Amino acid sequence: MIEHLRAALVGEAGSAAGLSRFVARDSAAAIRCRACGASGRAEFVKRGFVIASCAACGCHFVPDPVPRSARYDEAYFAGDGECGYGGYLQDRELILANFARRARWMAALGAGRRVLDVGAAYGFFVAAARGEGFDAIGLDPVVPCAAFAARELAVEVRTGLIESAPLEPGGFDVITLFDVIEHLADPATALRRIRTLLAPGGLLVVETGDLGGLLRRVVGSGWYYYDPPQHLTYFSVASLDHLLRLCGFEPASAVGHLGRAVSVRNFCHQLGRALGGPLGAASKALARSPLGRASCSVPDRGNAFIAAARR
Ligand SMILES: [Zn+2]
Repeated sequence: MIEHLRAALVGEAGSAAGLSRFVARDSAAAIRCRACGASGRAEFVKRGFVIASCAACGCHFVPDPVPRSARYDEAYFAGDGECGYGGYLQDRELILANFARRARWMAALGAGRRVLDVGAAYGFFVAAARGEGFDAIGLDPVVPCAAFAARELAVEVRTGLIESAPLEPGGFDVITLFDVIEHLADPATALRRIRTLLAPGGLLVVETGDLGGLLRRVVGSGWYYYDPPQHLTYFSVASLDHLLRLCGFEPASAVGHLGRAVSVRNFCHQLGRALGGPLGAASKALARSPLGRASCSVPDRGNAFIAAARR
């Protein structure tokens, strides 16, 4: 196992520095689960980052220290950086429609009206939720998002981090994290803060990749959601439930697979990142071509899930 991992690391990272970094983590005591804090075990290496598993909660994660190479700024959304989305603002109408479906799913659960969207980016979910009758605001650390949300969508996105932003305790009926929890350095601290911001009986909504899904089980380490340095923790419904209980929430009372429309531009951009090499470059070139403006429908079942849990 260890030899396999070392070979994988040397083959992928190709550096003695990477190998020594792995060796430094080569004991259970040195690997602490990013979600629940229990001891973890190294499983494989991707892009030079160890991916570990936790026997206690079942999640997979990139162990500490948090990679410094994941940066969240405008380039992240434009597809200019190594991480991130392929042309987020160009997919505005698709994203609004995807989020409107999620807002309707929430509304059907009997959620209250006051919504906080964590990691709101440019405010598209906030706008979609308002369109479905919610009184929604957003929070995002990327500074220019707030001005865009106000100017283009006439919605409020505050600048800050969920762990520290000044927000009213008990001031929200629903707090949402769409494709956010996998990015957080300390998801338990974030969820505990979120719980204090929810009114009694309030609802947490999380959407993320499905570690327990068919796609991950078929493609293993090639799963595109294993995406260090930007994705740090990988959940199944069961491992998310474990963390929710740890943070004082009820287990998820509703789980769905809502699917999404994506542009060929973003799909090929992400595929290019996952493939790497000449095939990856070809995929990214297709993303930038006129074909990139077309869209396709991607099912979430077997690949991603949305879950709602009461405070
Ligand atoms: Zn764990």
